[in-house]
Amino acid sequence: SIVVTGATGQLGRLVVDALLATEPAGSVVAVVRDKAKAADLAERGVELRVADYSAPETLAGAFRAGDRVLLISGSEVGRRVPQHAAVITAAKAAGVTQLAYTGILGGPEADFVLAEEHKATERAILDSGLPYTFLRNGWYTENYTANLAPVLAHGAVVANAGEGRVASAARADYAAAAAAVLTGPLDEHLGRAYELSGDVSWSFAEYAAEVARLSGREIGYTSVPAAAHLEILVGAGVPQPFAEILVDVDEAVARGALAARGDDLSRLIGRPTTPIAETIAEALAGQA
Ligand code: NDP
Repeated sequence: SIVVTGATGQLGRLVVDALLATEPAGSVVAVVRDKAKAADLAERGVELRVADYSAPETLAGAFRAGDRVLLISGSEVGRRVPQHAAVITAAKAAGVTQLAYTGILGGPEADFVLAEEHKATERAILDSGLPYTFLRNGWYTENYTANLAPVLAHGAVVANAGEGRVASAARADYAAAAAAVLTGPLDEHLGRAYELSGDVSWSFAEYAAEVARLSGREIGYTSVPAAAHLEILVGAGVPQPFAEILVDVDEAVARGALAARGDDLSRLIGRPTTPIAETIAEALAGQA
C-alpha cells in the first residue's frame, strides 16, 4: 500500500488527492490521529489507520511490510524529533519498502532554527538504514497568502527579509511531487534527496507589487530590522516563540536560504510550479 501520515493536514489531503488521481483507492492508506476528521477519506475508499506520533504504541499498527510510506513532518515544533523517531522505529519494524520524508530546503545545509528538527529527522532515517527518499520542501506560497488580511488592512507587507528572495511553490505542487515519488519507480527515487522549490523566486517588494496589482490596492514592502519585526508580530498577538521563529526565517530568506535550488520540483511533477499570482488570486477570492 501507499501510506500517507498527517493525511488530514493541508498537505496530506492534497497528497491523497494526487494519489487517488492515478491509484486505486484500495491501495491508499491514511494514517490519522482523529478518525472523524478523515470520514471523507474513508468514504472515498481510503483505508484509515489511527496513530499519534507522540504515542509509539499506536504506531505499531500503522505500517505493513512492503508499504511505501510518506512521513509528513508534524506541526508541533519542538516535539518533532522524538515523534518522528517513533514513526521511523515503527516503519523499520514493519519492513516498509520506502520511507519518504518532508524535510526542508537545503537539508543539512539549512542554517535556521526551524530546520533543526528536519535535519535531526533525516539523520535518524539515515541511521535506521531504511530505504528513503528526502523531499526537502521549500516554502509554501500559502505561508504568505494565508496572511493577506493584515497586508490589505495596512497596505504593507512587513518583513525583515531585506532584498532576499523566496522560491516558493503552492502546497499542491509539493503534494504532486510526493505522490510522484511514492508511485514512481523505486530504483529512481530510493536514496535520493530532492531539493524542492518553485521555478520563480521573488523578493518581498515583488510579492507586495503582485498583491497590489491583483487586489487593485496600494501595497508596498516595509523592510524592517529583526527586532522591530518581532515587536510588531508580538504586538499583533503572535506568541513570542513563534514570532521568534518567523523573524529567524526572514533572516534566512535575507541570506538566500530559501531561494531557488534547481528544478527538482518541476521535473518531478512534469509541469511548471504554480506562479505566485495564481495562489495570491485564489487567496484574494477567498477574502471577498
Ligand atoms: P498542517 O498543520 O495542516 O498538517 C500537519 C499534519 O500533521 C496534520 O495532519 C496533523 O494531524 C499531523 N500531526 C501533527 N502532530 C501529529 C501527531 N502528534 N501525530 C500524528 N499526526 C500529527 O500542515 P501542512 O499540511 O500545511 O504542512 C505539513 C507539514 O509541513 C507541517 O506539519 C510542517 O512540518 C511542515 N510545514 C512546512 C511549511 C513549508 O512552507 N514548507 C510551512 C508549514 C509547515 P491532524 O490533522 O490530526 O491535526
